[in-house]
Amino acid sequence: TIPNAVQALLDLLNENNYLAYLVGGCLRDALLGIPLHDYDITTDATPMQMKEIFKNERCFATGETHGTLTVLKDNLPVEITTFRSEGNYSDHRHPDKVTFVRNLKEDLSRRDFTINALAYNPKEGLIDLFNGEKDLKSHLIRCIGKPEERFEEDALRILRGLRFSAQLGFTIEEETKQAMLELKGLLNYLSMERIREEILRLLVGKQAQRVIKEEKEILKVVLPEVNFEQKTELDKLPQEALFRFAYLIEELPKETVRKITYRFKFSNEQRDSLHDITDLAKEPLPRNKYELKLWLRGTSEKNVQFVFLLKGLKTNVSKVNELYNEIMSNQEIYRLKDLTVDGKDLLKLGYEGPQIGEELNKILEAVMRDKLNNDKKSIYQFLGKEPSC
Ligand code: ATP
Ligand code: MG
Repeated sequence: TIPNAVQALLDLLNENNYLAYLVGGCLRDALLGIPLHDYDITTDATPMQMKEIFKNERCFATGETHGTLTVLKDNLPVEITTFRSEGNYSDHRHPDKVTFVRNLKEDLSRRDFTINALAYNPKEGLIDLFNGEKDLKSHLIRCIGKPEERFEEDALRILRGLRFSAQLGFTIEEETKQAMLELKGLLNYLSMERIREEILRLLVGKQAQRVIKEEKEILKVVLPEVNFEQKTELDKLPQEALFRFAYLIEELPKETVRKITYRFKFSNEQRDSLHDITDLAKEPLPRNKYELKLWLRGTSEKNVQFVFLLKGLKTNVSKVNELYNEIMSNQEIYRLKDLTVDGKDLLKLGYEGPQIGEELNKILEAVMRDKLNNDKKSIYQFLGKEPSC
């Protein structure tokens, strides 16, 4: 079933005498019974013509030179793209030029895999020029056309293939697989952002573990530092991409970890998490609540719990989990912001400048060690001061 919003856009194109089909991932996922997350329409209307047709809709020119317009209909983003073919790919990542073409066949034949090249509209039904439905049923990832040529054009397809294999649990067809192996060196031409996003999506795929094992030769091109052979416990970790990435690099020297997170252009926030997790994973487990509070003070609760999961792959972590639960259920504190006094209170007491921070840290330290209660009266006593009001 097509959402009304998407149907309305197809109808609008048809009423204006243009062809319009749903294509790509939404059909693949619909046939697999997987929930859909976006819709793509392909049409013979040019970007200019689309703009005219959709002038009353909320539109975003997301890739005008490539012929893509995103229409937001009933809050559903629908990407509408003009039938196109792509010229030479001299850099293995971008077509030198995009040519708009008159027919659907040419548009479908530039797509990556047979399972991604189905087209559909309610009038004509399913259009399957490359046996995509058969491959979908046999759970096969197969390139359209000659795999070598397709990977030479855009090497990202190699990683997309691995990602779909992990995500859908599909096998990579033999000829496609051979070409991936042969041309894996082309991955060096890709932008790190594109590589990173595919790797992160691969890692949370339901068969990520199998793909890591079977395709390590390819993955090593982008992550030569990682000992993929030893990464056999991915399935025991939560399906969170960043955490799983941390698992891949956890035991590498700190400088190597930093080089990788920099090379992969992770955001500062992501880098901080990856560094915190992999640094703590190298430390012995906290032996008491105070040591655990020091960990918690230094990073997020989520990161600490993830380190326990990582450590739990090798050692018994029940004791430290108990300590953690105790801290949480007692609402014991380990952050400055949770103290009942703040900088302003200390200013009123006559402290100045850097003294304020130093005193706050001393207070927190005493509270974390259970030597001081976190209430104003006790804290003022601890400081040897009387509150002014
Ligand atoms: P998902 O959205 O789940 O990642 P998808 O197949 O929809 O999967 P998109 O990146 O949204 O992937 O692309 C939509 C369609 O565009 C694909 O189904 C495919 O037909 C085509 N496509 C995307 N990237 C490429 C590529 N690098 N080479 C060839 N065709 C591509
Ligand atoms: Mg998609």
